[in-house]
Amino acid sequence: MKIGVLALQGDFAEHLQALERCAVQGSPIRRSFQLEDIDGLIIPGGESTTIAKLTNSDNTIFDTITNKIKSGMPVYGTCMGAIFLANEIEGSSQGRLGLMSIKVRRNGFGPQKASFESYIDIPCLAENGAKSEPFHAVFIRAPLILSHSPEVNVLAKLDQSISENIIMASQNNMLVSTFHPELTGDLRIHKYFLSMVE
Ligand code: GLN
Repeated sequence: MKIGVLALQGDFAEHLQALERCAVQGSPIRRSFQLEDIDGLIIPGGESTTIAKLTNSDNTIFDTITNKIKSGMPVYGTCMGAIFLANEIEGSSQGRLGLMSIKVRRNGFGPQKASFESYIDIPCLAENGAKSEPFHAVFIRAPLILSHSPEVNVLAKLDQSISENIIMASQNNMLVSTFHPELTGDLRIHKYFLSMVE
C-alpha cells in the first residue's frame, strides 16, 4: 500500500511521519504524475487560501486528484484538507475540490489564539465493541462543519448538544477531521483511514 500526502504546503511532513509509524509507505505529492501509483491520499492542514490560489494557475494536479477521488480513491483531509474538500465554504468563493457535501466555516472557533486541545469521543474507533479511549485532538484555527447532506456520516462531535460541532465525518471514500491527529502520537485515525484504503 502506498499513500500520497499532498505536499504543496502545510504540515505534510507530520503526516508522512505518522504513516511511517504505521509501517506504511508514504509519498509526498507535488506533481500530477506522482498520483499514478498511490492507493490513498492525505490532504494536510495548512492554509486553505494558499492552496486555493494554486487552483488558479495550473490545475493538472487538482484535476487528477478530483478524477481519482471520483473513481473511488480514498482521501483524508485534515483541517485545511477538510476545507479544500468541502463543496461550500461560508462566505467564500476560494478555490477548492468541492467534492464532499459539507458546508464549513473557516476559523470557526476564532483566530489563532483560540486554538485549543481537547479529549474527544470517537465511537468509530471502538474495537471489538469496547468503547474507545478518548482521542487527544489538536484544533488549530479549525473550521466548523456547519451542515451536511444526508449521505455524510457524522463520526464525531465536539459537543453532542450542538449540531454544528461536527469535527469528523465521512462520505463514501472521503474522510475529514477538523483537528490534527498527525500532531499527537495517537495513530488510530490514520489506521482508520488505512482500513478504508484496504
Ligand atoms: N484556518 C485555516 C484555513 O482556513 C486552516 C487551519 C489548519 O489547517 N490548521 O485554511
